[in-house]
Amino acid sequence: MSKSLIIANWKMNPQTLAEANRIFSSIEKGLRKIKNKKAEVVICPPFQYLSVINNQLSIIKLGGQNCFWEEKGAFTGEVSPGMLKDLGCKYVIVGHSERRKYFQETDELVNKKIKAALENNLNVILCVDKVSQIKKDIKGLSKKQFKNLVLAYEPVFAIGTGRPCSIEKARKMSALIRKTLKTNIPILYGGSVNSKNARGYLKEAGMNGLLVGGASLDPQEFIKIIKAAA
Ligand code: PEP
Repeated sequence: MSKSLIIANWKMNPQTLAEANRIFSSIEKGLRKIKNKKAEVVICPPFQYLSVINNQLSIIKLGGQNCFWEEKGAFTGEVSPGMLKDLGCKYVIVGHSERRKYFQETDELVNKKIKAALENNLNVILCVDKVSQIKKDIKGLSKKQFKNLVLAYEPVFAIGTGRPCSIEKARKMSALIRKTLKTNIPILYGGSVNSKNARGYLKEAGMNGLLVGGASLDPQEFIKIIKAAA
């Protein structure tokens, strides 16, 4: 992976479409000003903003924050990978710790979601907190499917807490994941990333990118994070 992958996870924010448009436009404007673009930027807004943001997309790619494993049918409230694809998504986040915690998503369910998303040609960003989760989550995937898989190491203690993981621990984790999977899969770091610590994860910990929650809703801060990849 030559470019760093910088993913914005807006979670259930912001509260209005007007605000989503404002944040998106500011990020887009800031990104256009960066001459030497060393990052691929993906924004994952709430589902209901995807369509409108998709109509403005240009250099920023779009992603979903979750998906279901079935294509269609009587699954009230769910969104299929095909629907995400139809709305212009190139990526989908699967297995975020908030989904595991609040919606009881098990490794088995995460595995079904990953397979469905890959079958629909979406790139999957699989969030994990422990190495032991990974093998269960990716069970049955072919080596070919690995090409569309990105891992995000997101220690739960660091998510939304303002207490980021140390650079050294992140470095060890990325090495351990690669050793365990015996593949050079792209690995992102996520958990209280900001403009001050971003460079350390990318340059010292050897991460291939970042998954950014809270800081991605502040366009100026997010642009500084993207610049850290340059
Ligand atoms: C996340 O939502 O994946 C995340 C890492 O959040 P934050 O950056 O706010 O810790």
